Amino acid sequence: MPRKMTRANAAVLFERLSAATPTPETELHYKNPYTLVVAVALSAQATDEGVNRATGPLFEIADTPQKMAALGEEALGGYIKTIGLWRNKAKNVIALSKMLIEDFDGEVPQEREALERLPGVGRKTANVVLNVAFGQPTIAVDTHIFRVSNRTGLAPGKNPLEVELALEKSTPEPFLQHAHHWLILHGRYVCKARTPECWRCAIDDLCQFKDKVKEPKTARSKAKSPAKPIGKLKAAAPKKKKTARSKKRA
Ligand code: SF4
Repeated sequence: MPRKMTRANAAVLFERLSAATPTPETELHYKNPYTLVVAVALSAQATDEGVNRATGPLFEIADTPQKMAALGEEALGGYIKTIGLWRNKAKNVIALSKMLIEDFDGEVPQEREALERLPGVGRKTANVVLNVAFGQPTIAVDTHIFRVSNRTGLAPGKNPLEVELALEKSTPEPFLQHAHHWLILHGRYVCKARTPECWRCAIDDLCQFKDKVKEPKTARSKAKSPAKPIGKLKAAAPKKKKTARSKKRA
């Protein structure tokens, strides 16, 4: 695990990431807090683009818990079939819609404990909803944030909760509100899982990752492969041994 980054460097890191995207937003499409809960619940192990493709038509006809409950599990399944684990997610969305109607007057609660009671809503989803819909300075640790926090040394941790708590400590207060968006964007587009693009990374000098990738893959592989000879030299044909017969002929 890398050494923990100093608070001073953490501040510089966020200054740089925020300069690139001063007001970051979630890439999931939603219309209100309820559709945000649904979109985030659907996004587990799926891409935001894939979720947006499915929820575009869905939210046109079902953007409240009442309309979703009336739509029903089977019809909902027809809209979200392209998303992984859709059967289970359809079940959860209908169940959480019913719970919102019965226990919360159809409104999305603004408290973590209440949110986490909803079927299919875990700590990460609750953090996204609290942050994006209600402006609370929570940090939802997804796979990108987990990776960036550990690689850089900003907030090393063995599991998402450890990283979340470490980030809350290491992130200077002015950056807390948008920290999770900046880190997600950085992980998604620069500090990628397989090949981090360190050669164009704005926080390269602060990052403590040992295996930095300093140039694009194509350039690297070209550099590593041996130089091609100009023109192909033909290998010389091996000389035939003179046999007794050929010696006689000569
Ligand atoms: S230098 Fe590389 S490993 Fe470090 S944050 Fe940037 S892209 Fe990620």
